[in-house]
Parts: sequence; structure tokens; C-alpha cells
Amino acid sequence: MKIVLATGNKGKIKEFKHMLPHDEVIAYSDVIDEFEIVEDGCTFQENALIKAKAINNKLLNILDIPYIIISDDSGITVPLLNNEPGIYSARYAGVNASDKDNLNKLIDRLKENKLSKTNAYYTACIAIIYKNEEYTVHGWMHGDIIDHELGEGGFGYDPIFMPSGYNQTLGQMDPEIKKEISHRGKALSLAKKVMDILI
Ligand code: IMP
Repeated sequence: MKIVLATGNKGKIKEFKHMLPHDEVIAYSDVIDEFEIVEDGCTFQENALIKAKAINNKLLNILDIPYIIISDDSGITVPLLNNEPGIYSARYAGVNASDKDNLNKLIDRLKENKLSKTNAYYTACIAIIYKNEEYTVHGWMHGDIIDHELGEGGFGYDPIFMPSGYNQTLGQMDPEIKKEISHRGKALSLAKKVMDILI
């Protein structure tokens, strides 16, 4: 079964391909031109469904083989910073902000608030569309964020995030370990159970 990822985020595409080694995983941009999707939902779940439905509508008359669409909406939440950036993680420093801009803004917010280390958690909601039916699952990863970068691996906020029980950031960690413990890895293992029932 072909799995079409409803994301243009290269970090996520890489992680999904790594986590689904036995499936034929493609990005939607391998089939159609990338287009802007307005993510105006109030929750990770609403935004994941908005993305999956937008791609499903575009692909309906294009792909004539069976396929599953998977989208992921994810982000990091910092309780002591009023739950910032949460669903705004991808545009924390502005609409066209890069991952690096967003990371720097979070570091600045920690420093402004004199927080050298504080609790944070990642959330991932995965939406699945198969034959126009919609399903969603969630995964979380708890830990701490620190006010300086360590390591160059991963993407986004990974260089400042230390998962609970580890004294390294995700930026320093082997991707195999991230795959086991991450919000996306956990959501994906639930998504696989859903897909096994569907196919
Ligand atoms: P989305 O593409 O709208 O779901 O945006 C998610 C944003 O949250 C990304 O741009 C990253 O900044 C951040 N994010 C989500 N998952 C991760 C992760 O596993 N590591 C680092 N940053 C992440």
C-alpha cells in the first residue's frame, strides 16, 4: 500500500520514512505541486485533519491506485510559558519563520523568564484517511527544555529538548532512540494498528 505523507516538512518526511521502512512512503509533493494549507484549527487534531483532507481532495482524481494519507500535526508546549508555542510551534517566530527562528525565539523566551531549564512536552496527532474515512491518534513525549542548544541532530526544537530519563537532548541522541520514545513514534505505532485493521 502506498502511504502519502501530507507534509512538506523535510524533518518529518525523513522520520516517517525511517519509521515505516517496509511501506512505500512518498511525500504528497512527489505527486502534486506543494500548495499552502491554512491550519486554522484550535487543536493538533483539527489541524492534522485539515491537512489530510486538503491532500485527499487534491489526490482524489489524480492517484488511481489505492493509497493511505497520513498527516501529522505536532508541536511543543511549555507550561511555564503559558503553554507556548503549542499549536503555533511551526510559526512561533512569525508566519514564514524557519525552524531555527522558532528555536531561537523559544530560547529567548526562556531567558526573558530566567528559566534555564523547565518542563515541556511534545504532542503529535496523526490523521489517517483511507477511502474517505478519517481516523486520528495521538502520542506525547515529556521532558525538559534548556536555554542553550546541544547537538545538531533531529530538527526543530530538538537541540534544546531532553526527554525524561535522559541527560542528552534529542539533538545529541541516536535517531533510533528518538524513534522509540518520540511523540511521533508513539502516535505512529497506534496509527499502524489502525492501518492494519483497514487494509
Ligand atoms: P507542523 O508541521 O504544523 O505540525 O509543525 C510542527 C512544528 O513543531 C515543527 O515545525 C517543529 O518546529 C515542531 N516539532 C514537531 N515535532 C518535532 C520534533 O520531533 N522535533 C522538533 N521539533 C518538532
